[in-house]
Order: sequence, then structure tokens, then C-alpha cells
Amino acid sequence: MTDNPDIRRLADWDAERLDSLADVHGTPLYVIDLDRVRENCERLKAAFPSEDVRYAVKAHTGRAVLETVREAGLAAECASAGEVMRAFDAGYEGDEVQYTAVNPPAEDLDYVVDAWREDHPDLTVTVGAADTVDRLRERGFDGRLCVRVNPGVGAGHHEKVQTGANAKFGVPYDRVPDLLERARDDFDVVGIHAHAGSGISGDDLENHRELVRRMGELARQVGELEFVDVGGGFGVPYHEDEPPLDLDAVAEATREAIGEIDATLAVEPGRYVVADAGVLLTRVNTVKEAPETTVVGVDAGMTTLLRPAMYDSYHALANLSGSDRVAIPVTVTGPICESADVLCEDRPLPRPERGDLLAIGNAGAYGYEMTSTYNSRPRPAEVALESSGSPESSDARLVRRREQRRDLTKLEDEV
Ligand SMILES: *Cc1c(COP(=O)(O)O)cnc(C)c1O
Repeated sequence: MTDNPDIRRLADWDAERLDSLADVHGTPLYVIDLDRVRENCERLKAAFPSEDVRYAVKAHTGRAVLETVREAGLAAECASAGEVMRAFDAGYEGDEVQYTAVNPPAEDLDYVVDAWREDHPDLTVTVGAADTVDRLRERGFDGRLCVRVNPGVGAGHHEKVQTGANAKFGVPYDRVPDLLERARDDFDVVGIHAHAGSGISGDDLENHRELVRRMGELARQVGELEFVDVGGGFGVPYHEDEPPLDLDAVAEATREAIGEIDATLAVEPGRYVVADAGVLLTRVNTVKEAPETTVVGVDAGMTTLLRPAMYDSYHALANLSGSDRVAIPVTVTGPICESADVLCEDRPLPRPERGDLLAIGNAGAYGYEMTSTYNSRPRPAEVALESSGSPESSDARLVRRREQRRDLTKLEDEV
């Protein structure tokens, strides 16, 4: 148990502080609180004291975040060669890096095998297809190998984030023992891995339990493994009235469902580490009264925060400039020429006016990471907060500069 809170809600952020950051750095602006990232790591380690906790870095790969997570003692789970490179840049060593190859392009395998050969002989490669094993063999890789299992059960807040029963991910459950048996001749087979999807909540625990139970059974069947990794997907409450995940209950259910195994149990949460450590600040450009709603146009859109457009995700929203005004139902939209460019619909919000500053909660996970330059919109800046000793105050530093309009043509200018 730790005494840091299970969740930081949008209302818990210091509105004055956010307001002054927006003044200094402009909007749209991502703010990531590294102290909160550290607290989330600590809660995970406390809930899984004798298990292995790995951070699924795709939730937020910013260098400051990776350095913080590494210092907090979590290993790194990477989905691409680019993420592996970022992990090394942040100071990770091979023995703390697991590369989970998802339909890997040849150059990803080349990069990872080179890194393994030259500097990081202890890195682990997780394969999701027998074919990938052959491709590693062709490259002379005979290091630490883990097999991703398709457990046949999925879980998640949206069908687009359920991976456990999707044929794209992992080797079919029944074929795993045979593949492992053959791989043992040429590789150091260290583990099996599965990930059900994203958004394990109280309701979804049954699916999680079933996945873990199957992984335990498989581990006992194949024998001789160093670890059994049962994935991430630990949910965070995006709605203000949703209770936080009972992490200890998830940990207990996981340990119980895996049963007796002669290997270390591993989990790999992504979102849980960073979601509530981030907010997105955006300013109101236009307010338009339409017959059915009030449309509030802001300077952040689906290119700044994709989750609402891609997954219909809910993110808490606050009007930092007019918290005492009467609330009216509003639709908040971005500046992108797409009807999907909506951050929320018919949400009560203190009547927004042009120039108001809005804050969007739980933006630390899959926020900056999914930004794009569609509509030739430069990407936002990012500021990191970190306490410098005194617990009441923290320093703010720019960790990612705002992309400039001129940056947009760089790749064309340079050919
Ligand atoms: C995305 C992913 C995770 C993390 O999912 P979260 O919902 O962010 O916890 C873990 N493992 C794998 C293999 C993933 O692809």
C-alpha cells in the first residue's frame, strides 16, 4: 500500500498554475506531471511487489517520461524499433527492454537484432507469429525469445482496443507448445506473453481472469520459463463519477488466476502509468449558437487528441476561465475539416467565451503520442512538471517545442 491517491481528477489540478503555463507557452499545450508518473509507478510496484512491472511505452514515449519510469524501476515494453530506440535513448539497458514485434517490418528486425548483437545482448524479443521466428533465425538472432499467445479472449473499452481474440495478435493458443518446443533448439526461450486489450475495469475483470488462467495453464504445460507476461490494459476512470480501478484487487485476481507457476508473473500497463499525469490545455477560438447546441471551437482538435474521434472516448473538460459561470450544454470542436473532429457533444460547461482556457483531463496516455499534422496543423508543445525538492511547488520545463508551420515542409525541403 502507498499513500498516494488512486486517481488524480481534472479538478485536482491547480487551475492557476495551468493558466500561467498556457500564458507562457501558448496553446494547445500538453502538460505532463512527472511526479504523478512516479506515484503511479509506485502504486503499481506496491500492488505487484514480487511480480515484474513493465511500462508499455506506446502510451507516452516522451524522453522525460521514459527517464522517470526507468528511475522508478519499471522495465520497458516496446512495440516498434522506434520505441526500442527511444528506450535506449532514455538510458534503458537491454535486460529491461522487451520488444513485442507486431507484424514487424524488416528494418525493425534489422535494428533490434543489431542492437542485440552490438550493445544489448540481454534484450528480449517477443514474437507473435512462427514466421517472425524464422525471420529472426535468418538474421542470426539466438537470444532471449518470448512468444505472444493469442489467448482467444479480449477485453477493452472499445472494440478497436481489444487484441486478445484478434487473429492479428499472437500465435494461436493450441500451436504455442509446439512452436516453443522447436524454438528451444535455437533460442533462449524465456517467456510467454498475452495482452487482452485496453481498459480492464471492475466489469471486465472476468475476461482478464480467464486470460490469466489460460496463461497459467499453458505455462504449466510447456515448463521451463523465466516469466509469464499477462499484458496491460489497466483502466483509468475517464468519467468524473467513475470509481478508480482497485489495483490491489486486480493484482490479487491476477495472482489467483495464474495458479502455481515456476516463473515470474509480469504485467505491462501503459495508460495507467501516464493517463492522469497529463492534461491538454486549449483556448476557445469561436462560440457559435446553433439551433440544437452551442458549438465551441477550440484550438485543439483530433490532430492534437485523437481518442474522442477514434474511440468515441470521453475526456473530462473544464473551463478554467469561467468556472463560476452558469453551465450550458456545448459541443466542443477542433479546427480540423472533418465532422469527427469533436472533443465532446452536448456536455454541460460553464458558458464558454472567446479566449477562455479549457483543460482536458487524462490526456497523458495516447495523447501526444497520437498527434498528427493532418490539415497541415503543427503539433503542440509539451511542458513537464517536476518537484525540485519542496513538495508544494514544482518546476516547469518545456520538453517538446511547438512544431512550427515551416517544420511542416521540412521532409520535402530536404530532398
Ligand atoms: C498497448 C499495449 C499495452 C498497454 O495497454 P494499456 O491499455 O495502455 O495498459 C500492453 N501490452 C501490449 C502488448 C500493448 O500493445
